[in-house]
Amino acid sequence: MSWNNIIGQKRQIRVLQQALATGRLAHAYLFTGPDGSGKESVAFEIASLLNCQNVATGSEAGSCGVCPDCTLIHEFMHPNVEYIFPVESALLEPGESAKKENKRFTDAKERYDALLEQKKQNPYLSPAMERSMGILTEQIISLQHKAMFMPSEGSKKIFIISQAERLHPSAANKLLKLLEEPPPHVLFILVSSRPEALLPTIRSRCQAIRFSRITAQELRLWLQENRPEITEPELSFIVNFSRGNLRLAWEFINNRDSNSSETATILLRNQALDYLRLLLTPSRFHEAITSCEQNAKNLSRSDLTLFLAALLLFFQDANHRRINPDFQELNNPDISDAIDRFAKNFPNPDFFQISTITEEAIRAIERNASPLLVMTSFTSEIKGLLQRG
Ligand SMILES: [Zn+2]
Repeated sequence: MSWNNIIGQKRQIRVLQQALATGRLAHAYLFTGPDGSGKESVAFEIASLLNCQNVATGSEAGSCGVCPDCTLIHEFMHPNVEYIFPVESALLEPGESAKKENKRFTDAKERYDALLEQKKQNPYLSPAMERSMGILTEQIISLQHKAMFMPSEGSKKIFIISQAERLHPSAANKLLKLLEEPPPHVLFILVSSRPEALLPTIRSRCQAIRFSRITAQELRLWLQENRPEITEPELSFIVNFSRGNLRLAWEFINNRDSNSSETATILLRNQALDYLRLLLTPSRFHEAITSCEQNAKNLSRSDLTLFLAALLLFFQDANHRRINPDFQELNNPDISDAIDRFAKNFPNPDFFQISTITEEAIRAIERNASPLLVMTSFTSEIKGLLQRG
């Protein structure tokens, strides 16, 4: 990441660049704004800038991304950068020597590492372990200990706290103590899309920077400049699909990069529509269940996300055409016939509820929930909603 790779947020970045250039960084920031607007990417870029070996003071270019410090930060292994997000308590069970034999711990650690791996692939992901009760007191106690050690000369320790609204109450109180007497060598960056859920006393000790939702135009321009190989209709599909959420846009781009065929996305969409067809044909429901099980087993998490996203875009199209049969700005203009047929056959479903359920399923897949469970319950809920419609 360097500043140039961060989409939008020009004003917010300028404020931070100025603070960095003049050595006037606050000791604690609170980055707020919608999911997928790039808050954490900016936090990590600041961490990189403060540690990168190839950055001139006052430079606006950003971190180099390749020096040992930048690499360690990207791997979540840099001694000066602590990244905190909601984890399961099993991960924090005491007793270093006992840990090796503790199956609960090793299983939790595997899930934790898998999330970090996903975060490496998608910098806009805010990871949280599925069975987490929030950011736990032990995590903040560990920060307290780490805050006592000085970093190497001239550098700072950076504590990035993702989804800060999920701080457990006693963890929040411990963090407040740290913020009240901040060690001079520590920079806190709290990140939250629901800052109103944070303790007011914590909020008041942080300088707030509010991120805005990325507009379709900003994303389109960035893709045209940086990924010129992505052309229509795929370009519009990505822009429409992500609706200002860079986490979703990135899933698409990653998926595209890992599939040699440029039509892989479209194939996945057609597969999703085949499944929907089975689901809606009463005599073939058992085939839909089989198809759902196979997809859950065979598709990667990223492909499953796109599979569900393709359905979401299709439902949106159907809803638009239901309200206005002349609606022209379809996400899927190449299959307008199928969209019209669907809108005619299902004239009155609860599209709001259908979208909510689909978005929830996408989030659950991203949060490492069991694909089979998510897809099975998605299948029965969607069937129920469309039947009632
Ligand atoms: Zn570097």
